[in-house]
Amino acid sequence: MPRTLVWLGFFLLLISYGLVRGEPPAAVTAATGRPLVVIDPGHGGVDPGAISASGIQEKSINLAVSFVAANDLQTHGIAVALTRQSDRPALQARRFIVVDDLHFRSWMAHHLGATLFLSIHSNSEPTGTVAGPILYYVAGRESSHQLARDLAQAFARTFGRTPQIRTIRQLVLLEMKVPATTVELGFLTNRQDAIRLSSGAYQRALGSAISQGVVQYLRHG
Ligand SMILES: [Zn+2]
Repeated sequence: MPRTLVWLGFFLLLISYGLVRGEPPAAVTAATGRPLVVIDPGHGGVDPGAISASGIQEKSINLAVSFVAANDLQTHGIAVALTRQSDRPALQARRFIVVDDLHFRSWMAHHLGATLFLSIHSNSEPTGTVAGPILYYVAGRESSHQLARDLAQAFARTFGRTPQIRTIRQLVLLEMKVPATTVELGFLTNRQDAIRLSSGAYQRALGSAISQGVVQYLRHG
């Protein structure tokens, strides 16, 4: 699918979402037979997500890494759409409601015709001692589990350490009907991770590893 067509579909969706919620225009869902990877940079706008002690906001890290992954995938000839491409939530509403924004992200992915979905986030936890990326999928969904395994292998090749794979019941993932994984890039509450995550070189390495994992996954199919 040409990139312009993806974005045209995206804008049509934004317009149609408020009018015909749940009933997308047929033109947007027309199957092209080619894979379309939808990348969902978590949070945005008034919703910063996790924040490091030094003030680094999750939403910016997620977006930067998503851009790298999207560009890398496009160089492999794979069509990509993003649920947001600037510092704004996915759903433009007068008042930000996190659940509505999350529903909109999975709705948008399906109705753009996603064949694969990746939500990109950065983690937090209270002790500050936990570090490293984690890959999440919904238990019992074998294709999503395979996607997580392929991503884990690509991370292992890039960083020399295999990230954990865990199951989760997360709204955006539960709603997806295609292979879907949440990539937690690292912990902003860990000092070392926060420094790494804010470096452009590390962001590029993460984005490239994500792209490699997706390419590997698509080869199985
Ligand atoms: Zn998050």
